[in-house]
Amino acid sequence: MKYDVIVIGGGPAGMTAAIYTSRRMLKTLVITKEIGGQVVKTPDIENYPGFDLISGPDLAKKFTDQAKKFGADFAFDEIVHLSEKNGEFVVSGHSKEYEAKSLILAFGKVPRKLKVKGEEEFKGKGVSYCATCDAPFFKNKIVAVNGGGNSAFDAALLLSKIARKVYLIHRREEFRAEDVLIEKVKKMDNVEIVTGATIAEIKGDQIVKSLVYRKDSKETEIEVDGVFIEIGYIVEGGIIKDFVEMDEKNQIKTHKDHSTSREGVFAAGDLTNSYYKQIVISAGEGAIAGLSAAKYIDEKK
Ligand SMILES: Cc1cc2nc3c(=O)[nH]c(=O)nc-3n(C[C@H](O)[C@H](O)[C@H](O)COP(=O)(O)OP(=O)(O)OC[C@H]3O[C@@H](n4cnc5c(N)ncnc54)[C@H](O)[C@@H]3O)c2cc1C
Repeated sequence: MKYDVIVIGGGPAGMTAAIYTSRRMLKTLVITKEIGGQVVKTPDIENYPGFDLISGPDLAKKFTDQAKKFGADFAFDEIVHLSEKNGEFVVSGHSKEYEAKSLILAFGKVPRKLKVKGEEEFKGKGVSYCATCDAPFFKNKIVAVNGGGNSAFDAALLLSKIARKVYLIHRREEFRAEDVLIEKVKKMDNVEIVTGATIAEIKGDQIVKSLVYRKDSKETEIEVDGVFIEIGYIVEGGIIKDFVEMDEKNQIKTHKDHSTSREGVFAAGDLTNSYYKQIVISAGEGAIAGLSAAKYIDEKK
């Protein structure tokens, strides 16, 4: 079946875009690896208008239900290639191809890798990129968090309430996290902050057993059961390389109407070159991209 609009990504940007296009009676397909995106990693959301406090999974469900209510279709797939044929688009998943008159790219960002020995080997076996998702597995255990921004401090604070001991390892002396968060973490008796240190290796057998960090040219091995890597997020540019224009951070360059360098292709959310990355901003950009895609299709008729 050929769709009017294919939205790639089931986070706040993609879901909002789908709400807008399907509500305009456009045949819309959302293709996503999973529903909710980064939102499902957030237990408490306090800054999405209309809700004093809502959990990420609950908000993601509301987005999905609303898109379905207006008739959007869903496919669970990972998109691996994009191409254009006679002014229309072919979107290739792992096992299937999908076609549409217009595309909305909303596939967000992925956690930045540390790129050290043992990281890949122990991914899911003690190495985690989501404290909110995995912290409960480390009750009374020893863990390390790597990073110096809000995500790392959020993770350290959460883990300090669950694990026996938390090391916060950061490569610089100063932190990027908000002061209020830093103070909260510093007050926790079971958190040890190690600055000016980089993780050199993660070791184990079936699961993580220790890590080695390097500080002042000296290597120290500490016993840990888990390593939480919280060093930011990046846009995985593979599928959009040579398809739409990106900036030096691999973010998609968009115009005010969220069109991209390629006619008929729009982009919204964390993967664009907008300055701030938040749920409400992604949703807002999704709305603009949805309306712009609808206008594009109308004008093509
Ligand atoms: C721990 C944490 C806490 C946060 N807390 C808050 C908060 O309290 N308030 C707030 O406003 N913001 C918060 N944020 C930021 C917010 O979650 C993001 O800005 C927002 O989710 C971005 O939405 P998005 O739709 O652009 O992308 P994402 O949420 O990243 O969604 C991208 C979607 O695309 C899918 N996808 C990716 N690649 C492919 C592919 N190749 N093929 C198919 N599908 C693909 C993914 O499966 C996912 O469903 C938090 C983020 C994190 C990580």
